[in-house]
Amino acid sequence: MPLHNKRDLMSKGSGRSISRRRLLTMIGLSAGSTAMYQAMHSLGFAAETKFTRPIQLSAAPKGASVLVLGAGIAGLVAAYELRNAGYRVQVLEYNGRAGGRNWTLRGGDQYTELGGDTQECRFDPGHYINPGPWRLPHHHLGMLSYCKRLGVALEPFVQINYNAYVHSRKAFGGKPQRLRTVKADYHGHVAELLAKATQSDSLDAGVTAEDRAKLLDSLRFWGALDRNFRYVKGAASNDRRGYERDPGGGLSARPQFSEPVGLRDLLNSGLWAALPFGEMYDFQTTMFQPVGGMGQVGQAFARELAPLICYNAKIVDIHQDEHGVRATYENTAAGSSRQTVQADWCVCTIPLSILGQIPMNVGGPMAAAIAAVPYCTSVKVGLQFKRRFWEVDEHIYGGVTYTDLPIGQISYPSSGFFSDGKGVLLGAYIWDMLNSMEFTSMTPAERVAKAVEYGSTSIRNTARSLTTGSRSLGIVHRSRWVVSAFGQRRPALSTTTICADSTAASSSRESTPPTCRPGRKAPSLRRSMRLTGCTGAPSR
Ligand SMILES: Cc1cc2nc3c(=O)[nH]c(=O)nc-3n(C[C@H](O)[C@H](O)[C@H](O)COP(=O)(O)OP(=O)(O)OC[C@H]3O[C@@H](n4cnc5c(N)ncnc54)[C@H](O)[C@@H]3O)c2cc1C
Repeated sequence: MPLHNKRDLMSKGSGRSISRRRLLTMIGLSAGSTAMYQAMHSLGFAAETKFTRPIQLSAAPKGASVLVLGAGIAGLVAAYELRNAGYRVQVLEYNGRAGGRNWTLRGGDQYTELGGDTQECRFDPGHYINPGPWRLPHHHLGMLSYCKRLGVALEPFVQINYNAYVHSRKAFGGKPQRLRTVKADYHGHVAELLAKATQSDSLDAGVTAEDRAKLLDSLRFWGALDRNFRYVKGAASNDRRGYERDPGGGLSARPQFSEPVGLRDLLNSGLWAALPFGEMYDFQTTMFQPVGGMGQVGQAFARELAPLICYNAKIVDIHQDEHGVRATYENTAAGSSRQTVQADWCVCTIPLSILGQIPMNVGGPMAAAIAAVPYCTSVKVGLQFKRRFWEVDEHIYGGVTYTDLPIGQISYPSSGFFSDGKGVLLGAYIWDMLNSMEFTSMTPAERVAKAVEYGSTSIRNTARSLTTGSRSLGIVHRSRWVVSAFGQRRPALSTTTICADSTAASSSRESTPPTCRPGRKAPSLRRSMRLTGCTGAPSR
């Protein structure tokens, strides 16, 4: 059903209207979360920021004050814009640093997870890992604009690398395949089948004679078919999937052609599942990363807003009434007693997973909405190696290897190409529930050992290129200040629902922290809501 706009949807038809929530639930149940997300987009509920240029909030009412709870990207953006508009802003942040999930670990840093395990990062200087966000799509216009304004240098993030691997334990005897060959063979076979259907007139109903010729031409080019529209061993297919022996050089410049994998084997391998990743909107080329790690963004905001941020302030109570908003916090560094601060307004960006545990006087629907948002967990493992063996031995420069092993993927660094000496790669990035829970139950050392064991199956030389001594980090998102990784959107929890009450919250999915304070209008604050967070829909 085409979804044009919400008024059409609600007013047309048999007179029996269906609620938006019900409709989205039905789409979600019958067609899956992607279809539901698209439907939410069409209805205007999951739309991305309409950011086109830096916003100009209208001037603050004289003397108006705002508390911003949480100094993740959402809180920092809110504080930055509100300060610029003339509000008196105070930011209260649990950690001793700004950025929240936007964060980079490098040599000398420590990380203590829930449960008490503390890991010390012992990477050599210049190496790092981003435990949280790590890449910025070209359409995160707000975030890219803040980077520019705050002087955060960006460099390309390589998402798609045709020379990286796709790997399944069940396919090709467990031998990793280059993405290039799987992609070329899949396109080739599909193109050949479609060409056959076109030639045999079975598409007559939908395609005119003239279009048929054009379709055949395009299929031949797209699928690298030969002149007879067959996807076979030869010059056309090898131009995409690569050669057994490359053309040029030596006594004979003639290439040795490689044999495409048969359609049946390809389908049975399941490796085609990795092909669309680079086609997805969030992962399309060009992507970016801050030079020196994602944490540079939080640090740049922190420099800009230094006098406004109170660190080590753990909010333990939020109260709102007709006089404003009161927040009570504990100083986690000094272990001191509680303190209370007050302001006219409050922008709360504490993750819902935490906010749901903080006493506050909000209405029932809001409390229910906060409690109902499910969060995923995620695991990342950073491994330092003696040498960049993926470049030297495998000619893989950036990009991702996808595997059906529990580590999910291995990501190669998008910077420092060809440098001598050590290198750090992301040895695991897990966010499916089962595997991340399994890794979470391990000690950090066990996580690292498992990541190396699995990694050695997907890419050779992994184990033998490890540095001696502990130089690795197995990070799970079990931190006191977010508890898990990212929120999951559910049909019943559209932004409308979250904003229906007066108090506010943000998660990675719901990156629009509404403002607290019932019964008062604050147009300038409301405009700031659209800007927050670095994502519309989160990309991981
Ligand atoms: C593993 C992972 C990978 C991701 N990858 C990407 C990516 O590649 N690209 C992308 O765009 N997005 C990505 N995301 C999503 C992105 O990280 C989030 O959308 C974004 O960082 C959320 O920012 P936030 O300010 O809403 O929340 P947070 O960053 O969680 O900030 C909340 C802040 O509140 C503070 N806080 C918590 N409790 C209290 C309390 N009681 N008192 C005071 N302060 C408190 C926290 O310390 C924190 O600083 C990823 C997320 C994860 C977890």
